[in-house]
Amino acid sequence: MTANKDVEPRPGELRVLHVEDNDLDAELVSQALRKGGFSPSVVVVQSAAGFEQQLRSHPPDVVLADYNLPQWEGMETVEVLRREGMDIPVILVSGALGDITAVECIKRGATDYVLKDGLARLPEAIRRALSEKHVLRLRLQAEEDLARKAEELTRSNADLEQFAYIASHDLQEPLRMVAAYTQLISERYRGRLDADADKFISYACEGALRMQTLIQDLLAFSRVGRAGVSSGLVECDAALAEVLLSLGPALRESGAVVKYADLPTVWANRSQMTQVFQNLIGNAIKFRGDEPPRISVHTEKAGDDWLFSVSDNSIGIAPENVEVIFIVFQRLHTRTEYSGNGIGLAICKKIIELNGGKIWVESTAGRGSTFKFTLPWHSPPERKLRDEEVTAPFPTM
Ligand code: ADP
Repeated sequence: MTANKDVEPRPGELRVLHVEDNDLDAELVSQALRKGGFSPSVVVVQSAAGFEQQLRSHPPDVVLADYNLPQWEGMETVEVLRREGMDIPVILVSGALGDITAVECIKRGATDYVLKDGLARLPEAIRRALSEKHVLRLRLQAEEDLARKAEELTRSNADLEQFAYIASHDLQEPLRMVAAYTQLISERYRGRLDADADKFISYACEGALRMQTLIQDLLAFSRVGRAGVSSGLVECDAALAEVLLSLGPALRESGAVVKYADLPTVWANRSQMTQVFQNLIGNAIKFRGDEPPRISVHTEKAGDDWLFSVSDNSIGIAPENVEVIFIVFQRLHTRTEYSGNGIGLAICKKIIELNGGKIWVESTAGRGSTFKFTLPWHSPPERKLRDEEVTAPFPTM
């Protein structure tokens, strides 16, 4: 039989490379294997050179090695296999092997050991070694597959991001032309053609404007996480106060009340954190119910994270939609009901995940919602203060 490491042996067939200097012992081992249900093809070698040569020409399923040979030690087979990069179990078969030596051999890479006066145990030891090797190979294979898939996914995500960025960036220019000229046609020819023409031109104008806002949103989404966005310490109290200032008119018009206190300082990008608060509070106002908005922002420690909660008394979200709303351009209402393109929460999710956190919503339709997100609470290890962080922005007198 030609041994080939890529060909699986038939059940019971076993290619054995036996390192042994005693012919009788070698025969006893072969007998024990046959008794144990194997049809072994055994090659016996006595020297290191013979072992290496056989290993290369006829790779076995298992190596059996006497621990103490006159010329060399059975454990050297493990070194040779390692050097050759061959994953073949080595079972020491020895006249005497103390427990401590046995443990030492297994630590050094032997798979098992069997005493010569207990050869009945050998078939079982071989079966176990081969099955462990098989399981290990499957596990390594699965780990490799997983790592490769993760790498492919990262690459395809990066490609997709790059594509979305370039497409949205480059589409802006021609679209600006379309929007400008349809607008011009609308102004110059309104009332000079027939009623249908006026209607069609106004549809074209609306379509162009709408596409512009979609493309701008897509561009804003692609920009999150692109190179050049730096992180620093962000005082969330201050970031939220800035958001409330800019949302002032909407807050006043809706009669909203926003409560927050003692928000932490986190490691993130200031304008991105502002954007997260802006999107969440803006939504709480936009999707308000019959009552004026009641919004509260609070944080607590949760393991290694800060857990932020932004609660409102909005119209709420049905359970089947709590994940959909974080996908780009996914919305639950028509634009005539509520304005928007469905990009705000997708941006929040991207920002939070880029900063090592998670975002989700807990809500009951008609009974308000609580958007929750986490951010790591520990400060970053050993970082140098950048110039803009150490220089206080004093006004010049
Ligand atoms: P947009 O506000 O432009 O629709 P978002 O991505 O911010 O886009 O939100 C997606 C959808 O999630 C919204 O259309 C709305 O249906 C739902 N939503 C978001 N925030 C709230 C909220 N606070 N209360 C109820 N529904 C919300």
